[in-house]
Amino acid sequence: MKKLLSFALAASSVWAVHAADFPIKDKVITIVVPFTAGGPTDRVARDLAEAMRKPLGGVAIVVDNAAGAGGSIGANKTAKATPDGHTLLVHHIGMATMPTLVRNIPFKVESDFEYLGLINDVPMTVISKPGMPANNYKELTAWIAQNKGKINLGNAGIGSASHLCGLLLQTALQTDMTTVPYKGTAPAMTDLIGGQIDLLCDQTTNTTSQIEGKKVKAFAVTTPKRLTTPALKDLPTLDESGLKGFSVSIFHGLYAPKGTPADVVVKLNAALKVALKDPEFIKKQEGLGAVVVTDGRMEPAGHKKFVADEIVKWSPIIKAAGVYAE
Ligand code: ASP
Repeated sequence: MKKLLSFALAASSVWAVHAADFPIKDKVITIVVPFTAGGPTDRVARDLAEAMRKPLGGVAIVVDNAAGAGGSIGANKTAKATPDGHTLLVHHIGMATMPTLVRNIPFKVESDFEYLGLINDVPMTVISKPGMPANNYKELTAWIAQNKGKINLGNAGIGSASHLCGLLLQTALQTDMTTVPYKGTAPAMTDLIGGQIDLLCDQTTNTTSQIEGKKVKAFAVTTPKRLTTPALKDLPTLDESGLKGFSVSIFHGLYAPKGTPADVVVKLNAALKVALKDPEFIKKQEGLGAVVVTDGRMEPAGHKKFVADEIVKWSPIIKAAGVYAE
């Protein structure tokens, strides 16, 4: 029995898919999203799934929300999946911040994945519950100062983009807030709208329509320049509001488990590039304040180098803020 099992394992490890048979007939492609459905990462993944379907011959592409632990559960699930091109991952800046933020992540960002290409750059926005008495950034900082020790700030868990942004904000304002972790910023947004939490810093891909619909109040954008998206164009930057040098822009990228055959990687990257040039996909992303990648980061090597550079960029900043998770 033991012999049979080891034979089966050996046989499966030498088995490989090649581009000619990829996607495997009648087998769906699953994009793992490491956060809850309805949030910003989920939204990018679902739009991308739609845009990549045609260039991959009409294959069914489904999204699996493996949410929790700041995005590390879904990343780990993908790292351990069969490397046949049928399990992919859409993840954000967490791929660059987790190696510093989380002490014991059960996978290696640099060596457990094939990098398939970067998707977009996304600004973040500082938003509040609708009942917030402050009406602009200056009033918000006054409210924060008056309410020290009583403020609840939502995030998507340690290692998430909202966690990073909240961390930098607290450091810059020299204020500690009570952080309330969720499995994604979709449920955090629901609680913000309901007034259960006070503040959230989240991708514009999740906040634009809520700002437009006046469901939440918006105070600033985290990028060094103001945005041009109609609903966001009047928001000041944090830098111009007094937090000199404050700059966070997050990105989403597409990954496959390490060992996915090189020719399958080429095919997936080609399909990704078709999606990134798809006017429908670009329109949807731009309407939500995101900028679709057009530079060398669309290529696996450019994507990998960019994430490696981001790890180096964020590591000292996170260490200076002094926050880690086990
Ligand atoms: N915006 C979330 C974050 O803060 C993740 C999500 O729900 O997409 O990382």
